[in-house]
Amino acid sequence: MRESALQVEGITHVYVSERGASLALDDISFAIRAGEFVSLVGPSGCGKTTLLSIMAGLIVPTRGTVVFPETGSSPGASSRIGYMLQQDYLFPWRTILDNVLLGLELRGRVAEERREWVLQLLDELGLLQVKDRYPHQLSGGMRQRAALVRTLATEPDLLLLDEPFSALDYQTRLQLEELILDILRMHNKTALLVTHDIAEAVAMSDRVLVMERNPGRIRHELSVPDAVRLVSPIEARETRGFHSLFHEIWRELEDPDSKEGRT
Ligand code: ADP
Ligand code: MG
Repeated sequence: MRESALQVEGITHVYVSERGASLALDDISFAIRAGEFVSLVGPSGCGKTTLLSIMAGLIVPTRGTVVFPETGSSPGASSRIGYMLQQDYLFPWRTILDNVLLGLELRGRVAEERREWVLQLLDELGLLQVKDRYPHQLSGGMRQRAALVRTLATEPDLLLLDEPFSALDYQTRLQLEELILDILRMHNKTALLVTHDIAEAVAMSDRVLVMERNPGRIRHELSVPDAVRLVSPIEARETRGFHSLFHEIWRELEDPDSKEGRT
C-alpha cells in the first residue's frame, strides 16, 4: 500500500453565530493515499464544503488536524493544494489564457516553462483554440475546463473538487468526468471530489466516503473494485457490480437512522 498523501485526524468543527453554536463536523478521520481518487457524498448540509475548506486551510477547525506526511506542512502553508469550486470564478474581463495564468501570477512565477505547461494543459483539455476568448464566449463545460486548467497550473499534488460538475448538463458532465480522470491519472494527482451524484462517485473513484448530517460524520466507506475502478466513468456505469455499489450508497443515504441498531 502506498503512503498516505494526507491524513485527516479527528476534525470537529463548530460554527458559532448569534443564533447559537452548531456542530457541523464531528470527529472526522480518514487518510488518502498518494494518487488515490476519493469521493465524498452526503446530503446537503452535512459539512462537505466545510471539510474541504478546512483541508485547504481556509477554515481553522475547532479541533483536529490535517497532516501531509510527506512535507509535514499544515494545509494553510501548503501551495500544493488546488481547490476547485462549483462556480468557475473566471474573471469576465480576462481572456481564458489570462485567467488560467492567474494562479501562477499570484505566486509570482509565470516563468516560461510554466507558460508551456499551461498551454499543454489547455491543449489536453481542448481549449487551445479558445485561449484568447473571454469566459462569456464559452459554454459552461468549457468554462469548467478552464477553471480546472487554472487549478492544475500551479501543479498542486492534491485536488479538492467541490461539486465541479453540478451546473453542467448530463452529457457534458460525463465527458468532463472522463477527461478529468484521464488528466489526473496522467499527472498522478491525488483528488477528493465532493458530489451529490452517487453514480458519479462510484464511476470515478477508488473509494467513496458517505457522510450523514446533524452532526456531519462519516457513516460508511466503500472501496470500488478494480472491474469498475479501472475503466472509464462511462464504461464503469455499464459494468456488473456497478448497481450494487450504487444501491449500497443509496441505502446509506436514504436511511435517516444513525448507526444504532444496525449491524
Ligand atoms: P455541505 O457542503 O455538505 O452542503 P456545508 O459545509 O456547507 O455543507 O455546511 C454544513 C453545516 O454548517 C450546515 O448546517 C450549514 O448551514 C452550516 N454552515 C456552513 N457555513 C456556515 C457559516 N459560515 N456559519 C454558520 N454555519 C455555517
Ligand atoms: Mg457544499
